Amino acid sequence: MNLDDYRGVWVFIEQNDEKIEGVSLELLGAGRKLADKLQVPLAGFLLGHEVKPLAKEVIAYGADMVYLIDLPVLKHYRTESFMKGVMHLAKQYKPEIILYGATPNGKDLASAVATDLSTGLTADTTMLDVDIDSRLLEASRPAFGGNIMATILCKKHRPQMATVRPKVMKALEPDASRLGKIIEEKISVEEEDIRTKVLQIVNDVTKKANLADAHVIVCGGKGMGDLQNFQLIYELADTIGASVGGTRDVVEAGWLRHEQQVGQTGETVTPKIYFAIGISGAIQHVVGMKNSEFIIAINKDPNAPIFDVSTYGIVGDAMEIVPKLIAQFKKLKAEKGGEMIYV
Ligand SMILES: Cc1cc2nc3c(=O)[nH]c(=O)nc-3n(C[C@H](O)[C@H](O)[C@H](O)COP(=O)(O)OP(=O)(O)OC[C@H]3O[C@@H](n4cnc5c(N)ncnc54)[C@H](O)[C@@H]3O)c2cc1C
Repeated sequence: MNLDDYRGVWVFIEQNDEKIEGVSLELLGAGRKLADKLQVPLAGFLLGHEVKPLAKEVIAYGADMVYLIDLPVLKHYRTESFMKGVMHLAKQYKPEIILYGATPNGKDLASAVATDLSTGLTADTTMLDVDIDSRLLEASRPAFGGNIMATILCKKHRPQMATVRPKVMKALEPDASRLGKIIEEKISVEEEDIRTKVLQIVNDVTKKANLADAHVIVCGGKGMGDLQNFQLIYELADTIGASVGGTRDVVEAGWLRHEQQVGQTGETVTPKIYFAIGISGAIQHVVGMKNSEFIIAINKDPNAPIFDVSTYGIVGDAMEIVPKLIAQFKKLKAEKGGEMIYV
């Protein structure tokens, strides 16, 4: 394999119901930086049916070009049909880097493509960079239970591929005046060629707390002591119109559902305000919340690592402090009238 045959940075543009997933826009922001450093174009590749109008949005968010395959067989994501599309594009245009969102579909597609192209894939990346001299992608992610950050290189194969967790990278401000090329490709894949059939799409309505999109999150840890005390977390969240999250220990204790877990094996969140109450600040938790705008930590241990990433820290017993906060917020609401609005 001649590595110099491969040039350009690509981003998988994941779309559902003709709407681009947020992580794909975030990856265009991250990909832009990599492409500029390597002095190559940034391309989005978009597969679907009747999705051409989305190509302009991909360009507005930073791409120089969009590779588009539009076919009825690509209407819903299926590994086989999407893989055929990506394989066609990758073999024809030979990008040196491909980024995918670490969503269920992104992970599925990336691993299938990596297998067929016999190349490497770094999963669940949280940091990306490139070495300009070697042109190697430096994909970093927590390893060994989150105790270290490992930077993974793919030295001998191309393309270099990584999946990146949603909400870790930042999307650029869209610029509708940006110009770019749309390159439409044809592949011959018929419905009969695909073994998986989509019979029905059923939306998951069980997730009450959508942490990934919450503006304010009150997150409780094992320091709350027991399930009864944990109700203070709900009361504070209810008072200020926030969502409730927790650490893995709290989920394992059965105080919260798994989808409310924040961290390496839970959700990555970026709210405006993040309360971390009775949370020690283990690296596996911190990787999921450290990009919040304001982090307010309450912990009785002044040396708790959570204070290292906090904007404001309150040292003390949560059982005393949280009721006071609730009372104060309730008073404020009564005085001002109405609900809290976060701007
Ligand atoms: C592979 C792997 C993946 C993991 N993934 C995740 C993940 O996704 N998310 C996650 O959260 N964890 C994860 N963990 C677990 C993580 O390592 C920690 O064990 C966990 O985050 C600790 O939870 P905690 O802060 O609630 O509990 P603890 O570490 O027990 O901390 C409790 C804190 O509460 C404070 N406290 C005690 N009483 C009070 C009080 N009355 N008032 C105020 N403060 C008080 C204590 O000082 C302490 O700092 C993972 C671990 C591994 C190995």
